Amino acid sequence: MAERLAIEAGAPVCSELLSYGRQNIEEPDVWAVAEVLRSDWLTTGPKVREFEKAFGRFVGVGQAVALSSGTAALHAAMHALGVGPGDEVIVPTLTFVASANCVLYQGATPVFADVDAQTLLLDTNDVKRKITPKTKAIIAVDYAGHPCDYDGLRNLAASHGAILIADACHSLGASYKGRAVGTLADLNVFSFHPVKAMTTGEGGVVTTESAELGDRLRRFRNHGISGDHFEREQNGSWFYEMIDLGYNYRITDIQCALGLSQLRRLPEWVVRRQAIAYRYDQAFADLPAVQLQAVRPEVCHAYHLYVIRLDSTNLSADRARVFTALRAEGIGVNVHYLPVHLHPYYRRRFGTGPGLCPKAEAAYEEILSLPIFPSMRDEDVENVIEALWKVISAYAIEPRRAAIGHTR
Ligand SMILES: *Cc1c(COP(=O)(O)O)cnc(C)c1O
Repeated sequence: MAERLAIEAGAPVCSELLSYGRQNIEEPDVWAVAEVLRSDWLTTGPKVREFEKAFGRFVGVGQAVALSSGTAALHAAMHALGVGPGDEVIVPTLTFVASANCVLYQGATPVFADVDAQTLLLDTNDVKRKITPKTKAIIAVDYAGHPCDYDGLRNLAASHGAILIADACHSLGASYKGRAVGTLADLNVFSFHPVKAMTTGEGGVVTTESAELGDRLRRFRNHGISGDHFEREQNGSWFYEMIDLGYNYRITDIQCALGLSQLRRLPEWVVRRQAIAYRYDQAFADLPAVQLQAVRPEVCHAYHLYVIRLDSTNLSADRARVFTALRAEGIGVNVHYLPVHLHPYYRRRFGTGPGLCPKAEAAYEEILSLPIFPSMRDEDVENVIEALWKVISAYAIEPRRAAIGHTR
């Protein structure tokens, strides 16, 4: 006799809701922040530089420019490349809205490309179909932490005079053909929002090998002004000029002290995420009506998200029902993402709608993100496994042969 689902008044697997992601803050992080609070510089001081250096070393890249958020970092990247009115920028539609909004901030036009049905990553073939002489840049999003087809995209961009940008907000710590994320595109963008691989509260970084782009990024985050307050203090100079129109996208020393402290533990966190993903892969291999994401052999996946796909043809419940049933079990599942071209703003402004990116639209109806974060206990991981088996078993029309008599 199957266990009664929590959604049908049964006992939940978890008594408290387990969120899909969360930060990891320990005492050294608190000390690092407190130390800055007692110092002379709260913002635009030595910690910003120290963090940028450490982050650049971690990734293995010449320039790392830290900003107030991943979104500010994307905007700065667009500006540094000179993206503007009349330009088109190709963006995968299955992403967070910020990946496309940054194109609008610069007055350019986002062109939505579809994703590969197996990996849910930007489909190089669809980019090929959508690239035009107006394409200034391609934004590759390493969805869930899985690096994109960088060789394919780079060749395609180069042959059309377009620039490749990595929205690597999910993939810090991942690699592609042995090369670290952060070195794979002309500009690479990271986010330090609390659900991401490491946090500064809010924050972001752009990495590049180009010193010239690095200068443009630094100016952009500080109103378009040459040099910063720290530099002037060091030189004993008051003089500055505004070269471009920039913003106040500065990150604080308080945040960068936290970033430095977090960065030290990042490698072990990535390993922990991979171990959780490996456990899920094993546990769900025989689960009926659930398809796991394909991972390309040439990548090392950072698992910001662990995404499963429901086989709706083999379920008596839709995704919304499965979502609610899992939440009732205390599992904080989520959906990443409503395709950007289906958001009301984009529909209204660009007339986009269903049919534009059919693979992403179909995926959207069936995807679920399971909890994955480094401080998850093994017990939490097992609870997620138990809850997913419980809920899916209740709704699967045809159990897979291997699932019959399944015991854990
Ligand atoms: C988190 C995220 C961003 C934006 O980062 P913020 O730091 O929250 O501004 C951009 N793109 C993707 C894919 C993200 O996941």
